[in-house]
Amino acid sequence: MRIGVMALQGDFAAHCEALRRVGAEAVEVRTARELEETDALVLPGGESTTMLKLLRLEGLDGKLADYGRRKPIFGTCAGAILLAKHVSSPAQESLGMMDLDVERNAYGRQIDSRVVTVHPEPGAQFDEPVEAVFIRAPIIRKSGPGVRVLIRYNGDPVLVEEGRHMVATFHPELTADSRVHQYFLEKVKGQARA
Ligand code: GLN
Repeated sequence: MRIGVMALQGDFAAHCEALRRVGAEAVEVRTARELEETDALVLPGGESTTMLKLLRLEGLDGKLADYGRRKPIFGTCAGAILLAKHVSSPAQESLGMMDLDVERNAYGRQIDSRVVTVHPEPGAQFDEPVEAVFIRAPIIRKSGPGVRVLIRYNGDPVLVEEGRHMVATFHPELTADSRVHQYFLEKVKGQARA
C-alpha cells in the first residue's frame, strides 16, 4: 500500500518512518498529483492554522475533500483538527470530514504536553495499553453516532474512527510502538478490498 503523508508542515517525517516500520510504502505529498498516486493519506501534527493556509495556497483543500470521499485519511493532532466538523478555541474552518467537535489546545497552557499510558476500549483491536504523547493537543468534545471510540484518556476520546477515516489527538508516530499505524494500514487494505 502506498500511503501519502501531507508534507507541507509539521512532523511528517516521523509518520513516514512509522509507516515504513509496518511495511507500507510511505511518500511525502505536496501536490495534487502526488496525492492522487496514493491509496490513503496521513495529515500529521503541527500547527493546524498554518497547515490550513498552506493547503489553500496549494489549492489542496478542495482536492482533499474529494479524496476523502474515496480514500482513507488518518489525522493526528493538528490533522485531527483539520478533519473535524467543528473547531473551537479559537474557532477555525476545517475540512469537516468527521462528525467531531474539537477544542484546540484544550489541556491548558502551563502543562500542555505530556506522555501518558492510555487503555484501549474493550473490543478495540489493541490488546495492551498504548503510550500516548500529547503536544498542545485538542480534546474531542463531541462525536456523532457514526464515530467509534478506540481509546480514551480521562474519559475523552483520543483515538476514533468513522467509516474509512481515523483521528488521534496524540502522536503515535513519536513512540516506537507501531500498532496504531499498523491498524490504519489494515483499515486501508480493507478499504481497497471493499
Ligand atoms: N495546537 C496545535 C493546533 O491547534 C496542534 C498541536 C499538534 O499538532 N501537536 O493546531
